[in-house]
Amino acid sequence: MFKVIQINSTRIIFALLSLCICMLFNTDAYAAEDNPSKKLILNNWYYHDGELPDVDSQLLATKNIQQLKVNETPLITQSSISATWQAAHLPILGASEHSQNILWLKRDLPSGNWRDPYIFISSIDLTVQVFQNNKLIYQYGDFDAQGNSQFSGWPWHLIRLPDDYDQHPIFLRIYSNYPDIGLSGNVFIGDRYDLLSGVYERGFIGFLFILVVLLVGIISTVMGMIKKDNHVAMCTGFLSFNLALMMFAENELNQAVWYNPLCWRYIAAFSYFLVPAFLALLMITWFKKSTPKIAYGVLLVSLFFVIGVLFLSLFTSFNFINAYPYFDMLFIVLVLALFIGCLKNLKKVEIHGVIMTVGVLALFISLVLDMMSAHRFIDWLGRSSQWGLILFTLTSLVIYLVRDWQQQIALTKFAQELEDKVEQRTQELKASQKQLQQVASEDFLTSLLNRRAFSSLATKEIANAIRHQQPISLLLYDIDHFKDINDQYGHSVGDLVLKAIANTSKNVCRNSELVCRYGGEEFVILLHSTHVDKAVVLAERLREVINAIEVKNNEDIIKITASFGLVTINDFTINVDESAESLLDSLLSKADELMYQAKVSGRDNVKAERIG
Ligand code: GH3
Ligand code: MG
Ligand code: MG
Repeated sequence: MFKVIQINSTRIIFALLSLCICMLFNTDAYAAEDNPSKKLILNNWYYHDGELPDVDSQLLATKNIQQLKVNETPLITQSSISATWQAAHLPILGASEHSQNILWLKRDLPSGNWRDPYIFISSIDLTVQVFQNNKLIYQYGDFDAQGNSQFSGWPWHLIRLPDDYDQHPIFLRIYSNYPDIGLSGNVFIGDRYDLLSGVYERGFIGFLFILVVLLVGIISTVMGMIKKDNHVAMCTGFLSFNLALMMFAENELNQAVWYNPLCWRYIAAFSYFLVPAFLALLMITWFKKSTPKIAYGVLLVSLFFVIGVLFLSLFTSFNFINAYPYFDMLFIVLVLALFIGCLKNLKKVEIHGVIMTVGVLALFISLVLDMMSAHRFIDWLGRSSQWGLILFTLTSLVIYLVRDWQQQIALTKFAQELEDKVEQRTQELKASQKQLQQVASEDFLTSLLNRRAFSSLATKEIANAIRHQQPISLLLYDIDHFKDINDQYGHSVGDLVLKAIANTSKNVCRNSELVCRYGGEEFVILLHSTHVDKAVVLAERLREVINAIEVKNNEDIIKITASFGLVTINDFTINVDESAESLLDSLLSKADELMYQAKVSGRDNVKAERIG
């Protein structure tokens, strides 16, 4: 199962990387578009810092706005128009230059062949009322009787223009109690369709980024759920889901899904504020016992920040968007702290820790670039922080998969070694078992069957012979005057003689026949399926072969003879009531009797008899 997951996840990573590369080459989509179907109008704007003279702010209150009529109560009087207007250059007019909460903007709009003319504005700090020819043509946010307003989110705006829009300048009354006031991003004039398709195209590309992060989240979480050591994967999953949520809350498409800019801003802000907490958590699970203390610090500080902002925005007049500039600075400090923590631990950890450090560094650089571009220290860079975060989550997932893969390899190797060892031990055990069985059933000197093994096997053989009505013969023989050999040449020479007899007996018999050292210098052979004639022939041959044995001792050649008692059963009906065991006893005692007769009648001969 793990193998399948490994292969699949490798493929998924490959697909994700390919998608990222595709998206990298598509970044042109972020560039400001300017084509005949829409026109970028960032120049030739004029601004007036603060309220225009003669403007009756009572009239700006929402409840009165529909009553505004040019002829009755001109909102923008001639003196307003001729007030001091200064040249402005969009995209943004900062509060550093504008001390008031109200900013008026005006511009003459270019004429064009647009069937459905609209103005598109990427973002406004914070709320706006748009007038043309002394009529209110668009409003975003609610205004009170003093002309003040509240933050209502940062959506993009599409403003319908009247047919004679190019006859009169357009006026924007912007309210902001935020550090920035004005328009930000791009301002286009053009056909509704073209403007919208541009927005959706950018939104869709942003959505592809979200998909990558979401996929990383899903893979990590699934890995986290099926693996034992799952904290790293789980944390990577949580971080990815948090990032995906943040990115979607920032994405242009969310307005099409659910038009609630303020709610999306809440989600975007708090998921952004939580990023360092997830980074710290990830680091804690990565480094485990060697976690730098600073990671716990980062976790605490970011949680404290999030809870603090939440509390202030819920129970005081503090607006959470004012936390953004502070958080931007804090974020840099926290990520820098994590990076330093990583660096300190670099010696203690393996290569994964090094990659992790590089990942945090990349994230740090991307954040710094992003903030520098947001605060206009450098040119607009696009979504560099998103790139940093995506790369970071991808790095984290890749390291996790690599580590997991290495663990799998180590585990497989260990399992293989274990299996080999078990196999080796089993073989050894089998061998020693066999040896033990052999020792238990063999005579230690001659390696023939010992008496106990012979009794058991012979009983079975006799039972078999009874069942199949097959003749059976038992040959018992004893070395003649063996005591003299021992006495004359010594016990060890006697042993050599016993071994020689044993070998000879084995050679003469078939492999399937039971040859046994019955005791001392007595041997016994059970011949299955053998009639008395054949058995006598075999006994005679054995006697002759034993006669021919020459055991040498120095100059002497020791000659050996033996006396044989042979008993055969052809017909078991006579002994029908006898068990195989007692039949064996009968055969042995009869053979012993016959052998004694052979001894008495001069030794070195065979006495045979059929008992059934
Ligand atoms: P007979 O012809 O009547 O059989 O005479 P024998 O001398 O062979 O018979 P006896 O029973 O008197 O002697 C048997 C001897 O076999 C006695 C014993 O020391 C010897 N013997 C028994 N087992 C062993 C053994 O394992 N090794 C040796 N070297 N001798 C053994
Ligand atoms: Mg004897
Ligand atoms: Mg003897």
